[in-house]
Amino acid sequence: MEIILKTFSWKNIIEIIILWAVIYRIFLFLKGSKAFYLLRGIIFLVVALLAFHFLSFPVLTRLLAYFFAFFLILVVIIFQPELREGLIHLGKRHIFYIEPKREEVENTLREIVSACGVLSRKKIGALIAIKREIGLNKFVESGVVLNADISSELIQNIFYPFAPLHDGGAVIEGGKLIASSCLFPLSENQTLEKTLGMRHRAGVGLSEHSDAVVIVVSEETGSISLAINGQLTRDLAPNDLFTILKGQLTNPR
Ligand code: ATP
Ligand code: MG
Repeated sequence: MEIILKTFSWKNIIEIIILWAVIYRIFLFLKGSKAFYLLRGIIFLVVALLAFHFLSFPVLTRLLAYFFAFFLILVVIIFQPELREGLIHLGKRHIFYIEPKREEVENTLREIVSACGVLSRKKIGALIAIKREIGLNKFVESGVVLNADISSELIQNIFYPFAPLHDGGAVIEGGKLIASSCLFPLSENQTLEKTLGMRHRAGVGLSEHSDAVVIVVSEETGSISLAINGQLTRDLAPNDLFTILKGQLTNPR
């Protein structure tokens, strides 16, 4: 006991606290995702490895250790996109992320909502994603990069039928229209109404893959919908769209 106390310094305590904080953050980040089950698998492997080691089963220990090394490489390859997102997410949140001013966000939203109102009245289809914390680079790369200051006219122009960039989705970040003609992931949600086509499925899909809020203007009906966290709210009036967007994008989560 004395030996344990002697070797157990305050540094160890700090080390343990930091380790637990990191493990807890990872746990929270992964909770509910498929990577969570993977983490459970890794923990199971580690426990088995330790058990074999302490029970002095040399062959089993070595075999499992080899398998574990191979498994870790496999995990890095399979979860490469998630790991990249995770690292970007971590960096943005704590080091590089600067909260935009409330009025700036509201001005941007006013331009977006005004454009959606016009597009809706004219029954011009549109798909607009507004980035929050999770990076959308993967989807931006599939389109045409613009990096233009946002205005209602610019957004209308982009979605005008026969305009070269009208197909696909636009991505907005801060006050900038980052890209248009982007390909978003289609939702595989079976409970979505069958009458909803690709544009709506792409909007819902992106909101499942990221924390972006995605506006869809229907070409067929002119109705405005909003996808957040995989849920689609339909038939929104421009005023309601503005209120929801403002609530989502200006309140700290
Ligand atoms: P609408 O009510 O406007 O007709 P919809 O949900 O019925 O919408 P479609 O009629 O299938 O959708 O719309 C097709 C358009 O959706 C395409 O022209 C394209 O611009 C867009 N679209 C289709 N798939 C994707 C995708 N994966 N990512 C982004 N945009 C897409
Ligand atoms: Mg359609």
